[in-house]
Amino acid sequence: MTETTLLVSKIKDGTVIDHITGGHALDVVKILGITGKTNGIVLIAMHVPSKQLGLKDIVKVEGRELDQEEVDKIALLAPGASINIVRNYQVIDKKRVKLPSLILGIVKCGNPACISNSNEPVQPIFYVEQEEPLRLSCHYCGHIMEKKDVLQQF
Ligand SMILES: [Zn+2]
Repeated sequence: MTETTLLVSKIKDGTVIDHITGGHALDVVKILGITGKTNGIVLIAMHVPSKQLGLKDIVKVEGRELDQEEVDKIALLAPGASINIVRNYQVIDKKRVKLPSLILGIVKCGNPACISNSNEPVQPIFYVEQEEPLRLSCHYCGHIMEKKDVLQQF
């Protein structure tokens, strides 16, 4: 078996997250709540040569499909990622993640004085100023959040 064959080694049922920005596989694993104690096969490939990205990471999770919040979080860290749903070894659905222009609810503002951090029922809203490297600006106070700030919350 060649090295390439091993990397694309198939899972039976689950999700393959491909084209993850190089170096972010473990962040994706964290977003999915996978720890050493969770069940099911998890395959992680890092620093795989890619025509599009230079180096990419791949995460394959057996027995799992992702919910929308997980997909949105992955989009923040790896805007070029694709999500492949696998059933019985076949890819039955493949879609690119998409970073919306507005991020609602999944990131908290890092400014403690921001109204979205008060006791008011105010949903955090961020504008995506730049995808890669990530730059979000808070709708309420203009505070800038970068990838490392967002990662701390996941
Ligand atoms: Zn704010």
